[in-house]
Amino acid sequence: MSDSKFNLALLGGTPLRSTDKTWPIWPQYGAGEREALLDVLDNTNWWYGEKVRTIEQEFAAYQGAKYCLVCTSGTTALEICLQAMEIGHGDEVIVPPFTFVATASAVSRMGATPVFVDIDDSWNMDPTKIEAAITPNTKAIIPVHFTGRICDMDAINAIAQKHDLLVLEDASHSWGAKWSDGQGAGVLGDCGVFSFQGFKNLTAGEGGAMVTNNPELAAKMQSYINCGRKEGGVWYEHHNVGTNARLGEFQAALLSAQLKHLPEQQATRIRNGEILDEELSKIEGITPQPVDPRQTQHSRHIYCIRVDQESFGCSRERMLEALNAEGVPVDAAYPLPLYKQPVYAKTGQYDDVSCPVCEELCYNSAIWITHQHLLGSESDMEDIIAIFQKVKDNVNELSN
Ligand SMILES: *Cc1c(COP(=O)(O)O)cnc(C)c1O
Repeated sequence: MSDSKFNLALLGGTPLRSTDKTWPIWPQYGAGEREALLDVLDNTNWWYGEKVRTIEQEFAAYQGAKYCLVCTSGTTALEICLQAMEIGHGDEVIVPPFTFVATASAVSRMGATPVFVDIDDSWNMDPTKIEAAITPNTKAIIPVHFTGRICDMDAINAIAQKHDLLVLEDASHSWGAKWSDGQGAGVLGDCGVFSFQGFKNLTAGEGGAMVTNNPELAAKMQSYINCGRKEGGVWYEHHNVGTNARLGEFQAALLSAQLKHLPEQQATRIRNGEILDEELSKIEGITPQPVDPRQTQHSRHIYCIRVDQESFGCSRERMLEALNAEGVPVDAAYPLPLYKQPVYAKTGQYDDVSCPVCEELCYNSAIWITHQHLLGSESDMEDIIAIFQKVKDNVNELSN
């Protein structure tokens, strides 16, 4: 026991969670992954082959898509989808500012202009603000299903239809996420992308995927990731301006092995996410990212809460220090709206852009817990809840 006059571990009190307890690590793997990798090693076809085709079929089935093409990253997948949708110089694409940079930088790299539309209390793009951002140059909308919480796709698709715009879902957090009627993320619009980067719920270290139900888009994606070749065509015959964004057999085999664990892991994350939603929302000043009742399955990539600093009783930064000292690894979310990132701020083009809901989350109120913690036991969830409660109960110590 500590002899500090304070209760909070940050000020010398005893941490609520014993340091003997560990959190789940990420990635997780077993004999299946080892066998899959050795299998590729020994059969000596390490290059784009049967394992790539297999994961493409498996992942298409998992999302309920007609077509899936895997490629080197989620970022590349965004660029290839934009190219397949023929978006380029002079075009505008509507994106949210509260996301990973790739959502906007892929648009810029294709020579088009990202136009930022604020998010709402769902932490996703606010559909009521989209129409005001549409100009004669607007070609597409990229909704981001942040944490796997699907955007209001009914509203977004209706706007897209009315204005003849394409919809590219950034489903980089949304493996297995399903909208109403059990439709999978990624095929709620024209096409969608996924990331298999190392921090993601389904990973091969790096990797990405594109899904669509549209055969023309699928054929273009297939060609662009494979040097502009045509499926079944002559090897040194190149029909399109493509690139080499092919995934190799090791990563494909690893993804197939990881995908076998995903349904069970997702069920654990969903169950634990629901427990945290229920219990943390009882603490004054804390609001978990709300779910949408139309969404039939979440993916729970990152666990997010919004803190009202005034009603909680201290600044978010002080709260993060106190929570971490008690033994729960928490962090602030994205530090800046994308239009404030140096890459966009320096252009001067976004000086007048203001997305207050996003700015509030970035600067003052968003807190996240990464997904591997949601793979913990019930007792781990009880610790998280008890730690938030302890910091709230002793928040007066922090203002002294
Ligand atoms: C991870 C991520 C990407 C990009 O994926 P990479 O595979 O890392 O290139 C795109 N958008 C969002 C929202 C992401 O989180």
